Amino acid sequence: VFDLLIVGGGPAGASAAIYAARKGIRTGIVAERFGGQVMDTMGIENFISVKATEGPKLVAALEQHVKEYDVDVMNLQRAAALIPGDLIEIKLASGASLKARSVILATGARWREMNVPGEQEYRNRGVAYCPHCDGPLYKGKRVAVIGGGNSGVEAAIDLAGIVKHVTLIEYDSQLRADSVLQRKLHSLPNVTVITSAQSTEVSGDGTRVNGLHYTDRKNGTAHTVDLEGIFVQIGLLPNTDWIKGTVALTARGEIEIDARGQTSVPGVFAAGDVTNIPFKQIIIAMGEGSKAALSAFDHLIRSSAP
Ligand code: FAD
Repeated sequence: VFDLLIVGGGPAGASAAIYAARKGIRTGIVAERFGGQVMDTMGIENFISVKATEGPKLVAALEQHVKEYDVDVMNLQRAAALIPGDLIEIKLASGASLKARSVILATGARWREMNVPGEQEYRNRGVAYCPHCDGPLYKGKRVAVIGGGNSGVEAAIDLAGIVKHVTLIEYDSQLRADSVLQRKLHSLPNVTVITSAQSTEVSGDGTRVNGLHYTDRKNGTAHTVDLEGIFVQIGLLPNTDWIKGTVALTARGEIEIDARGQTSVPGVFAAGDVTNIPFKQIIIAMGEGSKAALSAFDHLIRSSAP
């Protein structure tokens, strides 16, 4: 039986594991893929105190740090169900089952993709998903933002202050963002908004992106925007399908937590991109992971079991 079982081995889970192990409690991590989204990241320039690094490099350092401690790392294992109780049970897809006195859910999220030709090929070579992360790489260049919801319009406003020109592409006939954001967007001189547009292809020169192709849904005509970058902002999907109906989720499927990282289930905490905390970043996920671990420890010393 674990004192604390962490589900997820991204920055939030790794940070929780180190904080927990330093309290001397029996700690385990179950991760489908240790490192999480950081494994898919090329340049990282906003991990404070590290001027620049690469995803796989940061993951190797995370793993090394975790291995300094007595943490049972179960990599390549997917959690399939959580059963609440005095001892919380985590059922794995492999059929095995683990028991713990407390649990931290840190299963992260994934960006919804456009699913058009060229998107995968040019991922990290012009196709980006995180304006806070990659915006500065496009200083003085032309970019498109795909998606006219709040995150797309926020991204377009943010990027307009950095890049030369932003084209915002929305599938629907109108933007869905809050009107105050839309007003701000329309006041910017270097933003073009195109609605009723279906993105059809990302093109490039073999090395980097050079265009976005879309079809005008009103008349079926095909168009191309010449550009250097495309920010896809059509949704971040939390990895919570496996706990639906067990742990309280928001309408978007994010785990609801309080200021201490506590979920609706006693003894179950959550941290990082999978939760309803705003702003999904490595440094934030790490902070949230450490906070959840300290909360879980606090829970353990207050519960009656030895
Ligand atoms: P994740 O990193 O998503 O990790 C989730 C973990 O849970 C993984 O180990 C996964 O395998 C595991 N998991 C999921 N479901 C299960 C399950 N059922 N059972 C077991 N394990 C499971 N942030 C920055 O700060 N700077 C950047 O430059 C930056 N660039 C980015 C570039 C890209 C392309 C992407 C996709 C993201 C980028 N981010 C960046 C965001 C950052 O990667 C995330 O905010 C951060 O990784 C979130 O950490 P997390 O631990 O909450 O979740």
